[in-house]
Amino acid sequence: MPLTVEPVPCLTDNYAYLLYDPADALCAVVDPSEPEPVKRALAARGLTLTHILNTHHHFDHTGGNVPLKEEFGAVVVGPEKDRERIPALDTGLTEAAPWQFGSHTARILEIPAHTRAHIAFVFGDEGVAFTGDTLFAMGCGRLFEGTPQMMWSSLSKLMQLPNDTLIYCGHEYTLSNGRFALTVEPDNQDLQVRMRAVAELRAQSHPTVPSTMGLEKKTNPFLRPASLEIRHTLGMENADNAAVFAEIRRRKDVF
Ligand code: ZN
Ligand code: FE
Repeated sequence: MPLTVEPVPCLTDNYAYLLYDPADALCAVVDPSEPEPVKRALAARGLTLTHILNTHHHFDHTGGNVPLKEEFGAVVVGPEKDRERIPALDTGLTEAAPWQFGSHTARILEIPAHTRAHIAFVFGDEGVAFTGDTLFAMGCGRLFEGTPQMMWSSLSKLMQLPNDTLIYCGHEYTLSNGRFALTVEPDNQDLQVRMRAVAELRAQSHPTVPSTMGLEKKTNPFLRPASLEIRHTLGMENADNAAVFAEIRRRKDVF
């Protein structure tokens, strides 16, 4: 059976995700900000929660851990390196070993910089990745606990995923991310086309997730420090990729 993934909008612009396979009688929620929208989504589908997955410790990704664990007895799974900051963590994960979800296997990628212990869950056979607040649609997370070089390394790790990998990120920031992207790479036609599609989706209040790694590589400026147009815009024709990335991130911080 395939793994079903469904976004659950939480707070103002967060996405939690239900992840389930009826054949395994398992249902996980990724990054539950708050319990109520998750409980409504479960009830509407007749599902019982068995696992809570966290990409990182921020409250808008873990605020539902304790109430959902109390209600369902769900197992909390997240980065071992942030055990003390993940509420009610049961199963700590590192990059050294995969995590088994019934018949499905998630590879764990350690992708620090937004927080020092941020991880991604990658279901390779299913072509699905949960990237939390590290890789967004056309954006990347703020550097709260890492350097630009660290974030560039984390993004480079994610860029090794196949182009058809579906990217499920933690926030609906896509429209404003795209507006920024156009300031550094206005002539990128893939970006222009994507922005029209994103504007259309948001006008109808539809999620812009998931995207694909292939589309991100073509349109996300944070994955494109090698772009000649971006380098020209920034006046950094001869800098290395990490330095160009750092300047893109700096400009986004003040956008
Ligand atoms: Zn965060
Ligand atoms: Fe967040």
